[in-house]
Amino acid sequence: MSAQLLDGKIMAAELEEQLKNRVEALKEKGLTPGLTVILVGDDPASQTYVSNKEKACARLGIHSDTLRMPPETTQEQLEAEILRANADPAIHGILVQLPLPRHLDSDRALSLILPEKDVDGFHDINAGRLSRGMDCVVACTPKGALHMLKTAGIPIAGKEAVVIGRSNIVGKPMALLLLQENATVTVCHSRTADLAEHTRRADILVAAIGKPRFVTADMVKEGAAVIDVGINRVDGKLCGDVDFDAVKEKAAYITPVPGGVGKMTIAMLMDNTVSAAEKAL
Ligand code: NDP
Repeated sequence: MSAQLLDGKIMAAELEEQLKNRVEALKEKGLTPGLTVILVGDDPASQTYVSNKEKACARLGIHSDTLRMPPETTQEQLEAEILRANADPAIHGILVQLPLPRHLDSDRALSLILPEKDVDGFHDINAGRLSRGMDCVVACTPKGALHMLKTAGIPIAGKEAVVIGRSNIVGKPMALLLLQENATVTVCHSRTADLAEHTRRADILVAAIGKPRFVTADMVKEGAAVIDVGINRVDGKLCGDVDFDAVKEKAAYITPVPGGVGKMTIAMLMDNTVSAAEKAL
């Protein structure tokens, strides 16, 4: 069996079409959604991510204002820019590109962003509201992964979902979203004993580890939906956390890397920005 591909490019393009209409509707009412991205330092991967975000804003007619700050930026300078963007009525979303240089305190910086402008969904208030099942800004990557499952019509309620990874930006919010959708959720991590015993039970398996091709075919249940969040570079080429070629012969659905969850992350950032602008109106 060869799995059906969950194509992030196609799903993100469909979402962008809807977003264009929402941006148009806002503009007719005199409001252009605005996103500020703050990039500190010269990490090449971060620069690529930021430039992809700028391109997405341009495609959708969202005003984008990227602030490129030097690696030696101080905490005070970073916080001053966050406060400036908080106070700017033309800006509805603020994103601080992570990781920040090591001398900067990212938790402190992120907690300064107004929760309603926190389009990454990383603020304590948004993370807390998500855990309580309340209306909130949801982190873009897990939101995008859930959107892929739903768009493909993959049943979630009552299914066994296993998330590998417990980070605040992917694993934990992913587990909470699946729980909200009534899956039975197991969260695995580096201290999990006999990982494969858990993953082999998964109808929905989400890999957010950061280790190239870590999830092998013997760890996957026949007919599972496999969502690969990982982005790794091996010999200059991108690959995920899942051994795609082998796992696609066993799974029923699989996301590719590149062209999978990564595309949805950007689309969801745009969605969160447009939603923030709609709420501001
Ligand atoms: P983190 O490094 O913050 O978290 C990795 C998680 O994997 C941790 O919880 C860790 O466990 C767990 N882990 C590590 N080794 C093992 C192991 N041997 N067995 C089981 N679990 C293990 O990474 P992120 O969550 O930020 O990102 C994960 C991946 O997703 C990365 O490749 C990243 O590049 C990618 N990513 C992709 C995005 C996209 O748009 N597609 C967006 C964000 C991230 P422990 O907690 O015990 O250390």
